[in-house]
Amino acid sequence: MSGPGELVLVATPIGNLADLSPRACEVLAAAGVILCEDTRHSGRLLARAGVRGPRLVSLHAHNEAARLQQVLSLLEAGEKVAVVSDAGMPAISDPGGRLVDAAHRAGARLSVVPGPSAAPAAVALAGFSSPRWCFEGFLPAKGKERSERLRAVASSPVPTVIYESPRRVDRLVSQLGALCRAERLLLVCRELTKLHEEIWRGPLFQAASRWPEESTRGEFVLVLDGEEQTGARAASEEALAALVAGLIEGGLSRRDAVDEAAGRSGLSRREVYEALSKQEKASSDPL
Ligand code: SAM
Repeated sequence: MSGPGELVLVATPIGNLADLSPRACEVLAAAGVILCEDTRHSGRLLARAGVRGPRLVSLHAHNEAARLQQVLSLLEAGEKVAVVSDAGMPAISDPGGRLVDAAHRAGARLSVVPGPSAAPAAVALAGFSSPRWCFEGFLPAKGKERSERLRAVASSPVPTVIYESPRRVDRLVSQLGALCRAERLLLVCRELTKLHEEIWRGPLFQAASRWPEESTRGEFVLVLDGEEQTGARAASEEALAALVAGLIEGGLSRRDAVDEAAGRSGLSRREVYEALSKQEKASSDPL
């Protein structure tokens, strides 16, 4: 593709309209077409920013594949096409990634107006010592896929960023609490850059029940600190064993305690039994 067409990814505010950069406004105003998740939502943002003129076209999870060819044709015809999402950086847990891939493959010009995004904002606010970090985004909602990702997050040597819905934060905190050392640090950010911004950092054991499912609202991003490279898996097993021991001490039978630990951690009963037997073996091995 050789014409002057260009695909520009433009970051938009994650809550505070003043975070829309002057260059974002300029680029959006100069675009022939703006692809957005929700034309009404982005229409309001553009109206507030005084941007009138560009055509708004929807691009969301359900039509991104079908849009690819249309957008490539626009680029071929020399259009400047901007991509925004409802909030933050497009293509980061948002539509846009497939289009970017297709544009690269077609040899189109690409450009970016960087700006607000919940993940780097939270990492910066975490103050964890590792210079590296991992972006997990939304975890699978349930099942084996979720428990596998949770275990990977619990054993990660570097801090991990997780996006979570307000209804599921409580369950996520409880699952992490069951899989990690109680002192492992967690950062929880709610409604960043908005009126009811909340930034909480503390050990996992203090996070339990702070954001109850029934009464919790707003947008959440969490950062779990990394576990030391050696023994991360063992730390998970130790945490599970401590949880089961505590439940037995509280009066549950071993079987019920394992059921409860499975429920809290998101693991299957078999996985909990496996973790317990590894932990028991490790603690009985001579030094
Ligand atoms: N593309 C966006 C970005 O760059 O951050 C992410 C879009 S994703 C669909 C939306 C999720 O991002 C929310 O469910 C929440 O987990 C997180 N998020 C977005 N805005 C936020 C905010 N103001 N405070 C906390 N988390 C936020």
